[in-house]
Amino acid sequence: MPDARSAALEIVAALRAAGHEAYLAGGCVRDELLGLHPEDYDIATSARPDDIRAAFRSVSEVGASFGVMLVRSGGHVVEVATFREEGAYSDARRPDEVRFSTAQADASRRDFTINALFLDPLDTGAGAPGRVIDFVDGRTDLDRKVIRAVGRPDDRLAEDHLRALRAVRLASRLGFEIDPDTHDAIRRHASELRGVSRERIGDELRKMLAHRSRAVAAARLQELSLDAPALDEAPLRAPLAALHGLPADASFVTALSAWAIDRLATRAQDGPDRLPAQAPTVTARLRRALCLSNEESAALRSTLEGVARLEGDWLGEGVAAQKRAAAAGWFAPALSIVSARSPKLADPIGARVKELAASRPGLAPAPLVTGDDLIGAGLVPGPMFKRTLDAVYDAQLEGRVADRAEALALALRLSGGLSGN
Ligand code: ATP
Ligand code: MG
Repeated sequence: MPDARSAALEIVAALRAAGHEAYLAGGCVRDELLGLHPEDYDIATSARPDDIRAAFRSVSEVGASFGVMLVRSGGHVVEVATFREEGAYSDARRPDEVRFSTAQADASRRDFTINALFLDPLDTGAGAPGRVIDFVDGRTDLDRKVIRAVGRPDDRLAEDHLRALRAVRLASRLGFEIDPDTHDAIRRHASELRGVSRERIGDELRKMLAHRSRAVAAARLQELSLDAPALDEAPLRAPLAALHGLPADASFVTALSAWAIDRLATRAQDGPDRLPAQAPTVTARLRRALCLSNEESAALRSTLEGVARLEGDWLGEGVAAQKRAAAAGWFAPALSIVSARSPKLADPIGARVKELAASRPGLAPAPLVTGDDLIGAGLVPGPMFKRTLDAVYDAQLEGRVADRAEALALALRLSGGLSGN
């Protein structure tokens, strides 16, 4: 299979052969010029949707009214969009109308100058990836490492407030600064982010917090007063110890938990002592604010509660409870947060887990006795049933029963049946 770039190049060449202008456009040009590996390649062209349909065998359309086409080439699907300009935005979300237009107008409707570059990939000079077509001084901003709105920042933000989050995400991911005029406009318009759909806000936050530059992004959101509308809570410039100290590959939910804890700790001045009580409320609010899935909300809540438990008296808990915790999905993320907040607290917990893992029969052995075994022994499933299984598994974790026979005997004794057997 050819790589994604070669697949896009074939499409550009075919459109060119049919007499149209066609370029690589947007994020892929930016990333290539920065020496990064683009995630996907987008093409902008003078060809109209009908021309695009005529030029390729496998074409489908995204969002009919906008005429963006998906062309399949060499096992890849490439977005091919006709140069367009956009009419007024009356809902600050989508333009009222889209007109097909020129490359220059297409550059002008893009959000930031570094996202508004085109690349003619067929016009390669000595080692160059192609010829850059730059209507907005994006090249200079790339070199200066600056995110700058195309056109007047106030107007561009008023059109689509999500651009404020895109600016923060790009700046943190690339290690760029936001140009002062764009920066001030973002701050002036910050509260208007509330008009953007929670789903789009959630998607941006997901990308920001999943990236290793998450702490820079969150600090910028707080500094620009975007934290309040994004998280749907009061604005706060919280120190970001937990978020900052996470491992680079931390997940979105771990990062969101860490940020929530940084904010709670700042607000309460008493650390996460009150977290167990607050976890459900915080989870419910963030779930609504960021359109979290059921799985994400459950993980968020268990991570928040897990941090509170680890920073509480986890070291004083019994062996079975400790082993069950250490084997649970929330444990590693919660421990990474505790570790970021206080290595002094985390180190003995890590040491204890090693000790538990080394002790017989390990952290999470397969149960010696299962529900089927109990049914086989004549017990009827009911409330007692699960309690019995849990108690027998605790005994196994603590090494009080060594084999299946002992485990089964304990189960029968506990469930009141056949005692003395
Ligand atoms: P990423 O690497 O995250 O995909 P990207 O810049 O490629 O970054 P996309 O959402 O894939 O982001 O958008 C592709 C291009 O479309 C952008 O580079 C930009 O030119 C334009 N664009 C995207 N969103 C907006 C927006 N809200 N307003 C104006 N132009 C936009
Ligand atoms: Mg992209």
